[in-house]
Amino acid sequence: MRRRVSLALASGAAFCAAAVLAQQPPPMPAPPDVKVETVNVAPGIYMLVGRGGNVGLTVGSDGTAIIDDQFDDMAPKLRAAIALLSDKPAKFVINTHLHGDHTGGNDQFGRAGAVIIAHENVRKMLGRDFVNPATNEPVKARAREALPVITFADRAALHFNDDDLEFMHLPNAHTATDIVVRFRKANVVHMGDCFTGGFPFIDRNTGGTLDGLIAGHETVLATVDDSTKIIRGHGPLGNKAELQAYRDMLVVVRDRVLKLVKAGKSQEQVVAARPTKDFEEKYGGANFNAEQWLGRAYVDQQASLKARRQPSKP
Ligand SMILES: [Zn+2]
Repeated sequence: MRRRVSLALASGAAFCAAAVLAQQPPPMPAPPDVKVETVNVAPGIYMLVGRGGNVGLTVGSDGTAIIDDQFDDMAPKLRAAIALLSDKPAKFVINTHLHGDHTGGNDQFGRAGAVIIAHENVRKMLGRDFVNPATNEPVKARAREALPVITFADRAALHFNDDDLEFMHLPNAHTATDIVVRFRKANVVHMGDCFTGGFPFIDRNTGGTLDGLIAGHETVLATVDDSTKIIRGHGPLGNKAELQAYRDMLVVVRDRVLKLVKAGKSQEQVVAARPTKDFEEKYGGANFNAEQWLGRAYVDQQASLKARRQPSKP
């Protein structure tokens, strides 16, 4: 069942990161000192770290394919990093979700002939004009060549470089467009922004929910083992133990927030109660601070509770 994407404005929540994470990549030039760091994850598989989301790269006899492509102005730098490993340009671009720091390079890679693959909601959402509820600014649809040309609802696979890249949709998690990419043979997973080094950003404006994010973690945890390498959307290379710890943190904070919401506390009271306190040292430094996340978690859990109390009619 597909839930309707809520466009409700989360009142009082912090939106300072919204511009960075909006669908349209912002037109800021890459600072000249941004270098792309190439991390070897497994034979023929790399993580490219630059500005924006971490990029997954596979290099082999079929050529090259990338998972996410950062911002538009990073595309030449990503291309240069790929060229150090292969004389073949990216044949496929797989988008983990719609955000501009993961899809901003689509225009350039698409124009150069790469086939873009993503969940069907990425194409739907990037392909239409809309008003950003965070800023009330109209946002134009992305260029035709930036849109995924192969889309799927639940699962798909790409048989490339002697591996099977398995794509699985994680419904209403970080957004309503997320997929996890698994290299079945190499035992490498790219989780996009469903797993980062800091507190999560749950983008309600594009269908993200905390409960969905936790469910997504549980889905992925069931497919990985102790030797799986996990590429986060942002942050260092991870593993199963770290993913498990992250999921456990989400559950503890969710349950604490829900308890406060059920007790009728206001958003300000929930933030002041600091239900993230024992996790702030580990996760509070990157992406979103505890206050920003708690503001969003409050709105999220209030909506979740309301939905459970008033189930929609069949
Ligand atoms: Zn994102």
